[in-house]
Amino acid sequence: MAPIPYNQDRKSKTRHSKVVIIGSGPAGHTAAIYLARANLEPVMFEGFMANGFAAGGQLTTTTDVENFPGFPDGVRGPEMMDKFRAQSIRFGTTIVTETVERIDLSARPFQYWREYTDEPESADTIIIATGASAKRLHLPGEETYWQSGISACAVCDGAVPIFRNKPLAVIGGGDSAAEEAIYLTKYASHVFVLVRRDELRASKIMAKRLTSHPKVTVLWNTVATECLGDGDLLNRLKIKDIKTGEEKELPVNGLFYAIGHEPATELVRTQLECDADGYIKTVPGTTQTNVRGVFAAGDVQDKIYRQAITSAGSGCTHSRRAAEEEAGCDHLYIRE
Ligand code: FAD
Ligand code: NDP
Repeated sequence: MAPIPYNQDRKSKTRHSKVVIIGSGPAGHTAAIYLARANLEPVMFEGFMANGFAAGGQLTTTTDVENFPGFPDGVRGPEMMDKFRAQSIRFGTTIVTETVERIDLSARPFQYWREYTDEPESADTIIIATGASAKRLHLPGEETYWQSGISACAVCDGAVPIFRNKPLAVIGGGDSAAEEAIYLTKYASHVFVLVRRDELRASKIMAKRLTSHPKVTVLWNTVATECLGDGDLLNRLKIKDIKTGEEKELPVNGLFYAIGHEPATELVRTQLECDADGYIKTVPGTTQTNVRGVFAAGDVQDKIYRQAITSAGSGCTHSRRAAEEEAGCDHLYIRE
């Protein structure tokens, strides 16, 4: 029996789409807009609290987004994602508020299963845009002050008034921690970097920049044990020297986690080539994975930039490629 197009029979066991997008952040929606405008009738699974996020992704958890071009006065994260969604729908994307639980990429058409269903559905092309999440420590007091002094993105939140000319802390010793701490020196009176060992993981050049910065103090062998504040905003951290056992309070008005991110790749980790940290590997300069017809865009394949604009940009790249492939063109830049 010929596959039945997605919209014609919602109960069919052989429900089939040309392109399925899994994930609904800036990457997924940008892909949807381009694919819909190319008449590929994309179907997006936007997820139902998948990976801990509401449909719309990480930006639904933030207040103002001030670095996305086109919004000179900034825009609330959830409002921006509502606009992305409306634009996807405007051009004909079918959006399903469900999570994809399982996927089989061993043969084309690919098969996938929604959460709580046994029947597979199929697609010629699949775009993985499931995003990532910043790792957190879940310290006592963290829930109270999350986004009220605690953040996992200095570039996103560093400029907000509560952090201006105040002492701030960064936890982590990798390149992200170095980059975020140096970035925060623009706004902070001083930045303390809490490193749990007596050395940094960051590259030599970043480490040197960090340790030689006059507004940065690295607290070696130090961990945070509690987040404290006035009930509304964070104003100090309880910290511990793990070598001496000494505990004290560090007065800071901001805490930024930079202890790594977790890409949402559980769904595909055993089927697509991923790096040691679980990020999907793509052909450099493209969003093509090691399986033809499967593309990855956004934070799920980007451990460096992790921004809305870069995610959206990669969403455009992969949708272009998917559209070309669907149209039968074998574009130059993909060589398998
Ligand atoms: P995400 O935004 O992570 O979205 C992925 C979506 O896919 C989620 O909704 C998830 O539920 C869904 N999903 C996951 N698995 C499945 C599944 N199996 N089935 C269906 N759906 C699934 N960037 C900026 O540029 N500027 C900022 O000011 C800024 N502020 C930020 C503030 C915070 C608090 C955070 C956490 C991040 C911020 N970022 C900011 C970073 C930005 O949000 C991300 O870079 C961007 O959202 C990544 O987009 P994405 O499309 O890759 O995925
Ligand atoms: P990394 O995994 O490299 O570093 C994480 C850091 O957080 C480590 O210092 C680690 O300590 C520390 N850490 C982890 N868990 C805890 C914990 N529970 N308590 C305290 N500290 C903890 O992540 P990054 O995000 O820094 O970098 C990811 C990748 O992206 C790397 O490959 C990096 O090079 C790259 N990157 C490059 C940039 C650039 O080139 N400009 C910028 C940003 C990222 P420990 O060392 O003890 O394990």
